[in-house]
Amino acid sequence: MPLSSSAGTGADRDDSGARHLLSDDALEWSVRRAGVPGASEIVQGPSVLVVEDEQNVAKALRDGLVAECCDVSTAGTGEEGFFLASTRPFDLVVLDRMLPGRDGLEILRALRQKGILCPVLVLTARDSVEDRVEGLDAGADDYLAKPFAFPELLARVRALVRRGRGDQLTRLAVADLAVDLTERTVTRAGSVVELTVREFELLAYLVRHKGSLVSREMLARDVWKETDRSTPLDNVIEVHVARLRKRVDQGHAVRLIHTVRGVGYTIREGDG
Ligand code: CA
Repeated sequence: MPLSSSAGTGADRDDSGARHLLSDDALEWSVRRAGVPGASEIVQGPSVLVVEDEQNVAKALRDGLVAECCDVSTAGTGEEGFFLASTRPFDLVVLDRMLPGRDGLEILRALRQKGILCPVLVLTARDSVEDRVEGLDAGADDYLAKPFAFPELLARVRALVRRGRGDQLTRLAVADLAVDLTERTVTRAGSVVELTVREFELLAYLVRHKGSLVSREMLARDVWKETDRSTPLDNVIEVHVARLRKRVDQGHAVRLIHTVRGVGYTIREGDG
């Protein structure tokens, strides 16, 4: 099973060590993640599930992807892979086609039928046009024939994760309000809502925390980037929220932006 030399750095990763291993590719994950306006969560590489029964191949894939800062889980059978992929979300599943018991394509069809739409890259020892067509028809996003060069696998992994995350992370919605973080556009019930830069940042922050309470302190820190607590921003925030509410909620039967008296704000579907 010739995998290219970059597969075997064998670097183990833990939370504290992850940053030291950042390659250009891994850095790309971090920058993109951090580039989401206001994102303050800890930067993590993509979560990848590798379903492969051949242990040496599984290990090479794991080591290579871990070296790229991916958070890798492995499954040695189709059943185990199906179980893991249906119980937690992954940014990508790398699925070997030839597995003992239920083969890769059966697992893939079952996942798609269950409504699990995460990107799936199918690995196969066979490589014919019919084979590829069958794989794509089963719901594969991409297809790679063994033996493969590791850089090619990584390039495909990056493309698939980018596509999957792009859809998840850049378009957010609360009821009929849609916010596109990349295009920086907002629509409510299909009509464009014009916002200033600050109003957009404020709305994007609320929508990313939809259903949760957002305090004025959080807004001061993360939207206004004001860390000096002695600077009174409460009035400024109130004025901006009032304007935002007017633009987002006025003329609509259902209000989305709610004040939590004395504490802050929340955006959620429905009144109350
Ligand atoms: Ca196999």
